[in-house]
Amino acid sequence: MLAQGAGLPVVVIGGGFGGASCARALRKADPRIAVTLVEANATYTALPHSNAVIGGLVELSHQRFSYDRIKSAGVNVALSAATAVDPEKRVVTLADGTKLNYERLVVSPGIDFRSGAIQGYDRAAMDVMPPAYNDGAEVALLRRQLEAMEDGGTVVIASPVNPARCPPAPYERASLIAHYLKTKKPKSKVIVLDAKESFTMQKLFEAAWQELYPGLIEWVGLSQGGALTSIDVTAKTLATDFDKYQAAVANVIPPQQAGRVAELAGVADRTGWCPVDPVTFASKLQPNIHVIGDAAIAGAMPRSASAAHSQARICAAAIAAQLAGKPLAAPTLTSSCYSLIAPDYAISQKGTYRPVDDQYTEADGGAVISAQDAPRERRKAEADEANDWFRTITGEVFG
Ligand SMILES: Cc1cc2nc3c(=O)[nH]c(=O)nc-3n(C[C@H](O)[C@H](O)[C@H](O)COP(=O)(O)OP(=O)(O)OC[C@H]3O[C@@H](n4cnc5c(N)ncnc54)[C@H](O)[C@@H]3O)c2cc1C
Repeated sequence: MLAQGAGLPVVVIGGGFGGASCARALRKADPRIAVTLVEANATYTALPHSNAVIGGLVELSHQRFSYDRIKSAGVNVALSAATAVDPEKRVVTLADGTKLNYERLVVSPGIDFRSGAIQGYDRAAMDVMPPAYNDGAEVALLRRQLEAMEDGGTVVIASPVNPARCPPAPYERASLIAHYLKTKKPKSKVIVLDAKESFTMQKLFEAAWQELYPGLIEWVGLSQGGALTSIDVTAKTLATDFDKYQAAVANVIPPQQAGRVAELAGVADRTGWCPVDPVTFASKLQPNIHVIGDAAIAGAMPRSASAAHSQARICAAAIAAQLAGKPLAAPTLTSSCYSLIAPDYAISQKGTYRPVDDQYTEADGGAVISAQDAPRERRKAEADEANDWFRTITGEVFG
C-alpha cells in the first residue's frame, strides 16, 4: 500500500480535465480528505486547441502541462496506470504493483477506441493513420505527415458515429488543415468521410468553408457512402461501402467508448459508456465509485473539457458533502465549445444543463450557437474568446 496521507482516502483515476480538476476540488472542499490522483503519463497533453497544432498555428508545447501545481495543492500524485479495481475490497492496483485503498473512487479515464470497428485498423495502422484524438504524440505525427506531404495530395479524415468525444472537433480539424493547405500547398484538398448523416453546427461550418476555403473541403455524409469500412495501410487507401479513397495523409478517428479502466472497474455498461446518477456522478453499477468526463453518460451534455471540468466540481462537492454527512445541492452545469475555422474566425456552442428525470437536459431554452449571419468582427471576437477560454480552463485545472 502507498502512503496516502492521513484522512479519508479518495482515489481519482485519470489526470485529464475531469480527474485533475476533481482531485483539486476535493482537496479544496475538505482538506481532511486524502486525495490520490493516479495518472499514466507524467505530462498531460490537452486536446482542445490541438487542431491548431495540426494546422501549424501553435506549437505542441503550448498544450503540455505537468502535475507540479496539483501536487503543491496537496494532492498525492501517483504516476502509473491503474490496472485493476476491486470494488468489494475498495482497492486500486497500479502497473508498478502499488495498491491504493479508497473510501470513494472517481474514474475519469477519457475515451478508448472500439477494437475491430474498422477492418484492417489495428495498433500498427494507428502509427500510419493516427486518430490524434487522445494522444499528444499522434497530434505531432499528423502535423509531421502534413508537412512532409507533397502539394497536390489528398488528406482524408474519417469522422466517427456519435456518441464521441468533442463532436465538432473533426470539422474544426478539417478547417485548420485546409487553412494550412491553402497557404502552403494550394493544389491539395481535404475529404471528410463521415459515418453520420449530419454534424453539429453543420450550416455554420459549411458557410465558413464556402467563404474561406472554396473547393478545398469535400464532406461525404453517411448516405453518400461516408462510413469507413476498411483500410489498407500499405496502399494508403480507405474503403467505404460505395467507394475507395487514395490518401496522401489519413486521419482515422474510430468509434469510441469509455477508457478501458472503466470496464475493469465494472462501471461501463453494454454501450461501453458509464451510467451515473446526475446529481452525484455516482456509478449506477458499482457502489462508492463515481464516473465523470467523457466516460460518463451525461444526457444532453457534450463530451467536452468544459463539461468534464464542470462535472468534476459537482462530483467533488457531492463526495465532500456525503463524507461529511451534509445535504446535497441541486447542480447546474455548463459547457462551452469553440471551434476555430481560421486563426481569426471561430464559432461556438454553449449550454447550461440540469438533471431532469435522472438525466442532464439543456436548460434555459437550449444551447446557444453562434449566429449564422454574424459579421466577421464577431467571428474574430469568438477566436479571441476561444484563446481566453483555453488559458482560463488550463490555468484552473493545471496552473
Ligand atoms: C481534437 C480535439 C479538440 C477538442 N476541443 C475541445 C474544445 O475546444 N473544448 C472542449 O471543451 N473540449 C474539447 N475537446 C474534448 C476534450 O479534450 C475532452 O472532452 C476532455 O479531455 C475530457 O476530459 P476527461 O477527463 O474525460 O478525459 P482526458 O482529458 O482524456 O483525461 C483522461 C486521462 O486519464 C488517463 N488515464 C486513462 N486510463 C488510465 C489508467 N488506467 N490509469 C491512469 N491514468 C489513466 C489518461 O492518460 C488521461 O490523462 C477536444 C478533443 C479533441 C480530440
